[in-house]
Amino acid sequence: MGERERAILRDIRARALRGAEREGALRVGIGDDAAVLAVRRGEEIVVTTDFSLEDVHFRRGWHAPEAVGHKCLARGLSDIAAIGARPVAAFVSLAVPRGLTQGRHSWTARFYDGLLALAERWDVPLAGGDLAQSPGGADARAAADIVVVGAVERGRALLRSGAKAGDALYVTGTLGGAAAELRALTRSPARFRSVILVTPEHPHFFPQPRIGVGRALVRRKIATAAIDVSDGLSVDLEHLCEESGMRAEVDAALLPLGSGATLEDALHGGDDYELLFTADAGARVPRSIAGIPVHRIGRMLRRQAGRPQMALVKDGRRTELKPEGWQHF
Ligand SMILES: [Mg+2]
Repeated sequence: MGERERAILRDIRARALRGAEREGALRVGIGDDAAVLAVRRGEEIVVTTDFSLEDVHFRRGWHAPEAVGHKCLARGLSDIAAIGARPVAAFVSLAVPRGLTQGRHSWTARFYDGLLALAERWDVPLAGGDLAQSPGGADARAAADIVVVGAVERGRALLRSGAKAGDALYVTGTLGGAAAELRALTRSPARFRSVILVTPEHPHFFPQPRIGVGRALVRRKIATAAIDVSDGLSVDLEHLCEESGMRAEVDAALLPLGSGATLEDALHGGDDYELLFTADAGARVPRSIAGIPVHRIGRMLRRQAGRPQMALVKDGRRTELKPEGWQHF
C-alpha cells in the first residue's frame, strides 16, 4: 500500500468512529485485526453483503463518486431496514483502478465522503474494510463490497416468508422515481454531473434506506412479512409470494408514482429501496410511519390452480403481472 492509500485510511479511521463513540456498540474498530461489536441482551445479529460494480451498478462517467459511496452503503442499510433491524456497523472493501487515490479530492476520497455522510446520518460506524488497486491497465474497474451488521430483537426479524392469505400489501414512499431519473440520466449524462449533494429529488443517485420504518414495523408488530424493493416491485413481490407460498394482487390505481414515473417504472423499475410489507387485513396501519408515507397497494391471497402468482388489477380488469427484472447498464 502506498503513502497515499495510508493517508486516506488514516483520514477514514478518524471520521469513521464518530457515531460509534456515541452508541458504544463498537468496542474495537479500524486499526486492529478485526472489529469487536457489542450487541444488547436478547438480540440476534443480522448480516448483509452487496457488490457495487462499475459498469454494472454505476458508471464512473455518470455518477459522482459521492453518489457511488452513498448508494453502496444505502443498499446494505436497505436490507437491514427490510429485516427490521437496527444497523450496528458497516464494512466496505474497495478496489479502484490506478490513479483514483491521487490527491485530496481523489475519486476514492470522494467515495468515502458520500458513504460516511450516510453512515453519520444513521449513526453507523464504519468498522473496517480494505482498500486495494484493481488489476488491469486501462480496462481496470472499480468495485466495492459493502457488509452491514445489524441487530434485531430475538425472533422478531421481518422475513419474506410471513405473509398470510388475506393480508394487505403496503409500500413506503413512492415507486419508479429512480427508474425515471435513470432514463433522464441515460439521455443526457452531462446534466447530472454535478449531482453530488444528497437530496430527495435524486432517488436514483441518493436512495434513502427506510430504517426508521423497519424498526417501527418490528416494535409495533405491524408487519407479517417484508422485503426491500431493490430490483423492482414485480421482482421483489414475486420473492415475497414465493417465500410465503401466496399469490398477490396489485391495484394499479393505488400505486404511489415517483416523480416522472410511469406505471411501468413503478411496476418494474429498480433501485427505489422502499419497503414492501404485508399486514393483517384488520391491522391498523398508519398513513405515515417514521415520517415516510405508507400506501396500501394490494392484497395477498391463497394460491389457486390456474391463477397467476401475481396479478395487476387495472380499470376493473385483471391481468397477469410478470416479474420483469431491473436492467443494469
Ligand atoms: Mg433486499
